[in-house]
Amino acid sequence: MKLIFLGSPGAGKGTIAAKGVEICKVPHISTGALFRSAITAMSPLGCQVKALIEAGRLVDDETAIFLVKERLAQEDTQSGYILDGFPRTIFQAEALAQFSAVDKVVNFDIPDAVVLERLSGRRVCRKCGANFHIIFNKPKQEQHCDVCGGELFIRKDDQEEAIRERLEVYREQTIPLIEYYRKQGLLVDIDAQGSVDSVVASFKQALGMQ
Ligand code: AMP
Repeated sequence: MKLIFLGSPGAGKGTIAAKGVEICKVPHISTGALFRSAITAMSPLGCQVKALIEAGRLVDDETAIFLVKERLAQEDTQSGYILDGFPRTIFQAEALAQFSAVDKVVNFDIPDAVVLERLSGRRVCRKCGANFHIIFNKPKQEQHCDVCGGELFIRKDDQEEAIRERLEVYREQTIPLIEYYRKQGLLVDIDAQGSVDSVVASFKQALGMQ
């Protein structure tokens, strides 16, 4: 199953994708996580994208497309994947269509007010990238990742000013993808407001797994 997760920053795409890996038995490919690893490793890609990401702006289309094209050429993605955070522009979607045919696009529907609350409480594992929330998805041990024990941190782009910029960028550049994929008959909307369990249930239903 080749899936795209679409939705505003903070809609919970990363959290549900981590569950989707078990449900669909496919890898989770998060362009944001790939960029963050490159920043941590201080690789040439990381140095190129660091300032843009921390300001809440998009990396240029060519760089994002190159990254995903390389990742989707790897063996483990041949039977499927969950693409989280890509495409983010119509240009990226058109490029993706040239090298991979997706089966479904899951649109995580959520109001801005809920997004702000979620992003400001989000914590991410420095080591494995797992997502937690100080209220809605608390780690068992404060400041430590349940998956690998790594230290949890607040993303620079989860600061208030960067959050506003990301929501603006989402409205301008990514929302048009909803109609783009709806017209192709690929889009399924899910209500992303509830608990993790209820969103997982909606996700399974959207895929006809329940
Ligand atoms: P995310 O973890 O998906 O919220 O992504 C974090 C940041 O990485 C975004 O705010 C962008 O700066 C960058 N990014 C991730 N995916 C893309 C993409 N497909 N195109 C451009 N920039 C991206």
